[in-house]
Amino acid sequence: MGSNQVTAKSQNIRSILNVLLYHQQISRVELAELTGLTTATISNLVNELLTQGLVRENGIEQVASRRVGRPRMTVELIPDARFAIGVHVGIGEFQIVITDLLAKIISSTKQKFEVCVSAEIVIQEIVTQINNLISQSGITKNLVVGIGVGASGLVNVETGVNINAPNLCWQNVPIREWVHQGTGLPVIVDNNVRLMCLAEAMFGEGKTANVMAFVYARVGVGAGLFVNGKLFRGMAAGAGEIGHSIMIPDGGEKCSCGNTGCLETLVSKKAILRSAKQLAKENPTGIMAVKFAGQSANEMECVFSAAEDGDEEVLKMLADKARYFGIALANLINILNPNLIVLGGILGQGEKFLLPEIKKVVHEYSFSHLGDQVKIRVSGFGQKTGVIGASALALSTYFYDLSEGIEQEKSF
Ligand SMILES: [Zn+2]
Repeated sequence: MGSNQVTAKSQNIRSILNVLLYHQQISRVELAELTGLTTATISNLVNELLTQGLVRENGIEQVASRRVGRPRMTVELIPDARFAIGVHVGIGEFQIVITDLLAKIISSTKQKFEVCVSAEIVIQEIVTQINNLISQSGITKNLVVGIGVGASGLVNVETGVNINAPNLCWQNVPIREWVHQGTGLPVIVDNNVRLMCLAEAMFGEGKTANVMAFVYARVGVGAGLFVNGKLFRGMAAGAGEIGHSIMIPDGGEKCSCGNTGCLETLVSKKAILRSAKQLAKENPTGIMAVKFAGQSANEMECVFSAAEDGDEEVLKMLADKARYFGIALANLINILNPNLIVLGGILGQGEKFLLPEIKKVVHEYSFSHLGDQVKIRVSGFGQKTGVIGASALALSTYFYDLSEGIEQEKSF
């Protein structure tokens, strides 16, 4: 068999697996319709997937109009036939999960690390924890299809090098090489917010969205873009840097990127906390000051809790921050024309106080009411969005879809 035939066959298998991901139980005839393959090809390939233990034929689907003749069997993925590992590298904390084929978490761990400690030490610890997690879970290593890593900042997807992560003081870190050497498994690396977008597109709110954006805010502010069934990375994997949209060209605050007046300087966790602390200082007996003086270790929770208790100044401050987010989203909508925007990080945490104003501003400012057609939602995966996205990258690269990941980069 020539290599072209091998490639065509593996592409056909991946398109079947991809359809099975979205349609839990489906007949061979419907599989043929949705993949555009002949029923004979479907039959051969489904038999092969049955032999590999990846799918099962489930029960008997009796079609009401076909009471006579052969009953139709339905095919479905066996979720725990293979596994993937997702690693999310955040600012000062990493998370690792093992998931099944439907991104359900089987096993997980997380660990804090010192920001600006050497990348080699952190990646070595990640490798140790991956190996521990595999042995503790009892999963046979050869059932793991690969490891996806969501890294902070700019990543070269083709080489797996984390080119620049200013919030971690990392430059040119060969994450793929180090994690592969330490685990022996295939590894693919991408930007962590882009992978949150992939989590939503494959397994969350975006399953039916053709064009979507995921906007995340915490220490940094960034976006992942998903266009016509694929992650959109841009020419040098820099697409989605919404946090560095210039909102105040003159007299704005200096940003970590070197410019002044970026969105990130106005709405990041640090910016919100600074405004909240100023309010607490101005009114030392007010709700905000009392919250900060309390026992909670999480300062952002103090801010949202003060808003919950009706601190007028805090509510005004959050509406002001939401206004900047809304303007940035209206600009994003005008360029991308998405049908869905999913929000994560502090945008999810403070949904109640941020989302109404964001929606109002989007309605006011987007061109010709494009914004009114966009669904704006908060991520349902919470703090796990990044790590589920990392696992989704491994699944889509090594299992479901050949067009995703490295091969896509090479074809440009
Ligand atoms: Zn900036």
